[in-house]
Amino acid sequence: MGTRGREIVGLDVEKLIVELNRALSDEWLAYYQYWIGSKVVVGPMRDAVVAELTEHANDELRHAGMLADRIMQLEGAPVLKPEEWYDMCNCGYDSPDDPAVRKILDQNIKGEQCAIDVYNKIMKMTEGKDPITYQMAFEIMRDEVEHEDDLQAIAEDIKGIK
Ligand code: FE
Ligand code: FE
Ligand code: MG
Repeated sequence: MGTRGREIVGLDVEKLIVELNRALSDEWLAYYQYWIGSKVVVGPMRDAVVAELTEHANDELRHAGMLADRIMQLEGAPVLKPEEWYDMCNCGYDSPDDPAVRKILDQNIKGEQCAIDVYNKIMKMTEGKDPITYQMAFEIMRDEVEHEDDLQAIAEDIKGIK
């Protein structure tokens, strides 16, 4: 990377890279949670739910790419081993053992709420100190807020359905 681009970052870059790797681990786990959820889900409004879960899975994978690119720019090393995702992550992984729509929606809503907290933290950490990472976290946060809203809207829609 641009050496100067790293020098202007006004906070501990190593600490920032750790936080970005935590978020990267979260994104991969979120990606798989959505992706496998879209395969196994059963219940009311199944097709609409599958479409939403698939769309969100693709967004999470895109977020993982944004984080890995920023980590590389900062001359860090993105997490290389999937087995490290569990140790590194903030939000964990909820396996869809119960494939009922309501259960899967609840699990993913919980995941989005955790993701919102993660990017809120990264934004606070970088505000006024690292505009590039701040802007990236802002863009991801905007998606996570939309994800939570989408899932809660579907959950509300199917409430009355048996
Ligand atoms: Fe995400
Ligand atoms: Fe999300
Ligand atoms: Mg959506």
